[in-house]
Amino acid sequence: GEYSHRVQMGGGDELSQMAEEFNELTGRLQTTEEVRRRFVSDASHELKTPLASIRLLTDSILQNGDIDPGTVREFVGDIGEESERLQRITEKLLTLTRLDAAAPVNTEPVDVEEVARRVEHMLEPLARAVDVSITLDLAPGLYIRCTRDDLYQIIFNLVENAVKYNLPGGRVLITARPELDRAVLTVEDTGVGIPQEDLAKIFDRFYRVDKARSRAAGGTGLGLSIVQDTARRHGGTVKAQRREPEGTCFTVTFPLCRGEGSV
Ligand code: ADP
Repeated sequence: GEYSHRVQMGGGDELSQMAEEFNELTGRLQTTEEVRRRFVSDASHELKTPLASIRLLTDSILQNGDIDPGTVREFVGDIGEESERLQRITEKLLTLTRLDAAAPVNTEPVDVEEVARRVEHMLEPLARAVDVSITLDLAPGLYIRCTRDDLYQIIFNLVENAVKYNLPGGRVLITARPELDRAVLTVEDTGVGIPQEDLAKIFDRFYRVDKARSRAAGGTGLGLSIVQDTARRHGGTVKAQRREPEGTCFTVTFPLCRGEGSV
């Protein structure tokens, strides 16, 4: 049962405090176990879908003696596409598994402006191809304790989504500024937006608002959970809000690092 490991202690002494800590730990472990079980079941489901398509397509080719070459080409193309999907999913699953490991290593002060500019540079061709413009408004000299790869991944996933879920002629704005003792990074877009009732769920693994659209855009539903896990590992927070009159705004905050060499 859920409370089978609870320890009962009275009084305000040291022992009862230990009992409380034990109970809290047990509770957390149960949740972790539940999360892990759900993750495995979600992951299996996501892998089963493309695998089933691949099997169906190969069977169609093999069992149809007089199938014409054009159809074979089409089916093999579909098989290739599904394989790529499997590859994307497994790569992201591996990233998430690494995130589950212990505390981050090799962190250093990372320049938010430099990394955001780099992401913009890398996604500019994709944005241009779908007629979306990217604008930057970045305060200089903002450093956070992170790894460059992790910060790059966070900003990349958010900006890639802002471009992917946008409309022709749309805009993406990336800002970074200090606020008290935190660095605040926002990625805003004028895109399709996220319904209010989905906002809380988009950080869940494999969650997609519009499955067809996400699939067409090459989505796996893992990008935002990677953003959230990675940010949390470095003391960060992430939230999504609807933007008026349209689009979405993602806000990421990190503790600013001060007086550490390069600052
Ligand atoms: P995906 O690989 O599907 O893009 P993500 O975890 O990155 O997975 O995002 C989860 C879902 O949240 C997406 O499928 C999409 O429906 C929605 N989403 C994410 N970013 C945006 C955005 N900027 N605008 C609108 N919808 C978004």
